[in-house]
Amino acid sequence: MTAESELRSGYVALLGKPNAGKSTLLNCLLGQKIAAVSAKPQTTRKRILGILNLPQAQVLFLDTPGILGRTDKRLTAYMQREAWSVIKDADLAVLLVDCLKPDRRRDEQIADRLHEAKIACICTLNKIDKIDRLELLPMIEHYSGLPGVSQVIPISALSGDGVDDLLLEIVNALPPGPAYYPRDQLSDQTERLLAAEIVREKVFKLMRQEIPYSTAVDVIDYREPGSSDAPVEIEAEIWVERDSQKGMVIGAAGRTIKLIGTQAREELEQLLGRKVVLRLFVKLKRDWTRDPQALAELGYKPD
Ligand code: GDP
Ligand code: MG
Repeated sequence: MTAESELRSGYVALLGKPNAGKSTLLNCLLGQKIAAVSAKPQTTRKRILGILNLPQAQVLFLDTPGILGRTDKRLTAYMQREAWSVIKDADLAVLLVDCLKPDRRRDEQIADRLHEAKIACICTLNKIDKIDRLELLPMIEHYSGLPGVSQVIPISALSGDGVDDLLLEIVNALPPGPAYYPRDQLSDQTERLLAAEIVREKVFKLMRQEIPYSTAVDVIDYREPGSSDAPVEIEAEIWVERDSQKGMVIGAAGRTIKLIGTQAREELEQLLGRKVVLRLFVKLKRDWTRDPQALAELGYKPD
């Protein structure tokens, strides 16, 4: 048997209420500040796909929207649907509990749903650096009793305490499978996000106050050829809400969009260390900021 055929791989959904420590854990596991990219407004709408390549496994982390976040009603419903649509395709769920503020009822509901969907669940009690061991024991007992929960692992995503144990259990819970992404790739989502962010930044810079918050950038295609002399090819849509804004982004004789494209391309080339072909399209998406479908296309994600 070759090493490749012994590989384990799969999608892992990170679940937990806002502030449970999902991004911190992802950063800790990946050893990179990927989730920090999502701190900026545009990219927070994107779902992060962090890829962890280990000699024996490829773990694909889905950072799901916080279920039951407290925003307006429509978004909440949207987020829940979105969250579960992500989870449905996961091989494993990691339920992150903030042990300083556990929400047992909600966690039970999540565990129940995972159990019904036959998705294995590892429960992690996070922030143990801030809690007394004696308080932890009843919590471990409680969470061990939830349906479908195979393990309860206390960790501190901040200090890294327990995270190795968690990773070991995650890998063990994954099925044997192929590498879904090239083994040297950290996260194609990260580069896509960066590309979207850079284009959007140029739109902001060049348009000043005229089109402030009604634009979004969606990278629709990102191709990175194996040979490093070949350019990375990126296609992105700049979304605007109104017809008049479309004309403004394009500019007289296409000058504005051309400038946006040139500046974004130059910055991307520096960042990626190789040639980039960047194609930009301006797309009218009436009232996209209020349209759940459009938000979904953009991979809307709260936190
Ligand atoms: P998310 O909303 O689930 O992605 O949560 P974040 O990862 O953004 O974390 C929310 C807050 O909790 C941040 O201030 C983190 O620094 C903090 N935090 C996360 N993990 C830990 C931990 O293990 N210990 C402590 N003390 N704080 C943590
Ligand atoms: Mg987060």
